[in-house]
Amino acid sequence: MVILDLTDIVEETGKRWAIPLDFAPAPIPGAQFDGTAAGEVVVYNTGTELVFGGQATAVLQGVCSRCLTPLELPVTGEIEAQAPLSLVEAVLVGKPVEMELDLAAVLSPSGANLAELVGQALVLALPMHAVCSEECRGLCAGCGQNLNTETCRCEGANTDPRLGALAQWRRA
Ligand SMILES: [Zn+2]
Ligand SMILES: [Zn+2]
Repeated sequence: MVILDLTDIVEETGKRWAIPLDFAPAPIPGAQFDGTAAGEVVVYNTGTELVFGGQATAVLQGVCSRCLTPLELPVTGEIEAQAPLSLVEAVLVGKPVEMELDLAAVLSPSGANLAELVGQALVLALPMHAVCSEECRGLCAGCGQNLNTETCRCEGANTDPRLGALAQWRRA
């Protein structure tokens, strides 16, 4: 967990910090990332709000949704979060405040959890259907062969029985 102390920045209007990423993103259910994230988190005090921006890239360990071959896919997410300064100040002194779940996971009396911010950015950038290549031919639904590297073994043997009946009817 990487916690950024916010006590200085909430007091200085116009202050902007850019923090290079050198830590692993917070765990994301159903997604496995390899090692640390690259990029940076930017924190900016606008005078009324604390704004978090920047970009994070991490390598997703996944499988091709067509042929199920393991693959590594760089995923880049935009960090986008903001909170009124008054809210951040209240959190920092430990006052109970109401805020969105995403923000509540980031802010605590000790500061901002940057790994959580990065995790949230990456979740939004996860591909729905990762493929090893746009040309991936996937697995044969009949014999399960990987059609990128093998030949289908079920050609002819796997005719739909309804089509077979139709063929016989036509022959009669
Ligand atoms: Zn594939
Ligand atoms: Zn086949």
